[in-house]
Amino acid sequence: MKVVANIGGAAEADEVPGYGGDGVGLLRSEFLFLQRPEAPSVEEQSGVYTAIAKALGPERDMVVRTLDVGGDKPLAYLPLPREDNPFLGVRGIRLNLVDRDILATQVRAILSAAPHARLHIMFPMVATLDEFREARDIVLREKEKLGSGVEVKIGLMIEVPSAAVLAGRFAKEADFFSIGTNDLTQYTLAVDRANPRLARMATALDPAVLSLVDMTVKGAHGEGKWVGVCGGVAGELDAVPVLVGLGVDELSVAVSAIPLIKAEVRRHSLASCRDLAARVLGAGTAAEVSALIAQWREAEK
Ligand code: PEP
Ligand code: MG
Repeated sequence: MKVVANIGGAAEADEVPGYGGDGVGLLRSEFLFLQRPEAPSVEEQSGVYTAIAKALGPERDMVVRTLDVGGDKPLAYLPLPREDNPFLGVRGIRLNLVDRDILATQVRAILSAAPHARLHIMFPMVATLDEFREARDIVLREKEKLGSGVEVKIGLMIEVPSAAVLAGRFAKEADFFSIGTNDLTQYTLAVDRANPRLARMATALDPAVLSLVDMTVKGAHGEGKWVGVCGGVAGELDAVPVLVGLGVDELSVAVSAIPLIKAEVRRHSLASCRDLAARVLGAGTAAEVSALIAQWREAEK
């Protein structure tokens, strides 16, 4: 089990080794693109990715998510048509594929960091295998242009239920998955993740979301691929034994939470976590999941 960091800039990357992080499980690359009048050049992006890779070093994973904007998060320099349902509109990988120059430039910059860390690229909000293949081919084309010797793993975020359901098929073609439970919860329960009136419903510890996590892990492991969780639930102490028991291979959390989450992983046996996971998968409601976790915690004392 690896415990890695979610980061949104180069300064945070410097802190990862000191907190005992095994790497970066989610670099939210949006920070390079937001609040500016024009796209960042390949040189500027390359400088930032290389600095982050050097901070991590050749022994640690660095998972870079390609630009995840569109819909509710507009880019100042990119005119996007208004949409009635932005969360179901042109966001994430859909925008990457509409504006392929932005993706190709970003990928070129990311690949320049390959010599310095164990580089991984993943795409956000993938719903279909076609989308994954198109984006992967852009990475492969850019990699080919750089010649031999560039090592990179290519994966996707599992944030849309369709990708979880077809995890076994995605796993034949992808190197790894990272489950974005914030969006996976939103799309599974049809709950706007930003709506405070629905905040109580928006929990990844809902049995429907946990079943999708289970399907994702089984699909990945069936093909010998690994699965991380990078949504907020990975940093919730109560969720950690459930995710461990479901067979998740990596938890990606805020840098400062790494020691606490590592300690929680070490506190319980895998057999006991598996037992808990089997029980919560049989629950009917999120409240039942919470009650089962509480009961299990009592027994672990
Ligand atoms: C997620 O959706 O769980 C995730 C990690 O991505 P973001 O929160 O950046 O949408
Ligand atoms: Mg997301």
